[in-house]
Amino acid sequence: MINIMIYAEQTNYKLRKASREILGYFSVLAQEQPLQVTALVVGAECNEVIKEIGRCGVRDILVMEGQEYQTYHPNILAQAVVQGASDLRPDYLVLANTAVGKDIAPRVGGKLGWGCVSDVIDLELTDNLTFVKPIYAGKALAQIAGNGQKPLIVTVRPNALKAVDPSPVEPVVSKGVTPDLTGNEHLGYILKEVVAKVTGKTPPLTEADIIVSGGRGMKGPENFVLLEELAEVLGAAVGASRAAVDAGWREHQYQVGQTGKTVSPSLYIACGISGAIQHLAGMSSARTVVAINKDPNAPIFKIADFGIVGDALKILPILTAELKKHLKQTQ
Ligand SMILES: Cc1cc2nc3c(=O)[nH]c(=O)nc-3n(C[C@H](O)[C@H](O)[C@H](O)COP(=O)(O)OP(=O)(O)OC[C@H]3O[C@@H](n4cnc5c(N)ncnc54)[C@H](O)[C@@H]3O)c2cc1C
Repeated sequence: MINIMIYAEQTNYKLRKASREILGYFSVLAQEQPLQVTALVVGAECNEVIKEIGRCGVRDILVMEGQEYQTYHPNILAQAVVQGASDLRPDYLVLANTAVGKDIAPRVGGKLGWGCVSDVIDLELTDNLTFVKPIYAGKALAQIAGNGQKPLIVTVRPNALKAVDPSPVEPVVSKGVTPDLTGNEHLGYILKEVVAKVTGKTPPLTEADIIVSGGRGMKGPENFVLLEELAEVLGAAVGASRAAVDAGWREHQYQVGQTGKTVSPSLYIACGISGAIQHLAGMSSARTVVAINKDPNAPIFKIADFGIVGDALKILPILTAELKKHLKQTQ
């Protein structure tokens, strides 16, 4: 029996989509394989999250609830996860490769002395877990055999695991031991509040199923409205290349690539983006890539599933209008 503990990340008292994917994936896997799956929840108010975990098919939930978890603090959260992992002794501790997952996984690994395989996009279970993860800025995929090395921490890229349809279960909750938080009062900072600057009703970039992204070929910040209009029709998020971010057209939080966000949407529409390797590093695991570029030799076409050669500023309004019409007809 392989023992898996999944850290169920939450924002605003709701389960993160990235955690939902991992919980659902392992709950379905557990129907065919000898797996014990437990979710770990840490937060100030966990009731809604517990219900959501049940809907993801995971019954066993270890909960650490308390006001000390009200605001995000990496050391306090890591301490709680260390406590949960020490109590449960899982073979694998799995987290989403979100900003929080990336922040706490190394802290937990450091405290427990466990190794970590990060940014996994696929996994397979035989006697152990085998992982697939992009390397060399996404130029190649490495298959990593755990070789029985356990316990191990694994972070999974949002949107990367194949979609599953888990069967809801009634959660069984056990209360975790409150960790000793002494020492954390000496920390240099405490994050009081995160204020997200949200433009429109778009989903967060790393969790979006569809992303419409713009580069230098969009010519200026005023033309990003064309991307926003298309994004609204598709329920997509708007991303940008570094050239667009460096020019001050979009904020850095929307940058896709090696020094920006790594995304794995079902559909990535790259508009006026050349397809530099550092950009591809952040989006090459998208399932379908559509490129609009006026240069037929632009490198983005090498990885695009569909390409339109032409002026994005002219094509985008037509595409948006046609999609609107089509969606109206099919509704
Ligand atoms: C260490 C390092 C890290 C980096 N990290 C990142 C990163 O995280 N993300 C990232 O994106 N880049 C990153 N870069 C930069 C990267 O190398 C490229 O410079 C950048 O991606 C180029 O952005 P772009 O494609 O928008 O611009 P360009 O390369 O200038 O391409 C613009 C494209 O738009 C097309 N075009 C022009 N006009 C139109 C039009 N009207 N309609 C349609 N197409 C048009 C052109 O044919 C061209 O292909 C990094 C670089 C380094 C060195």
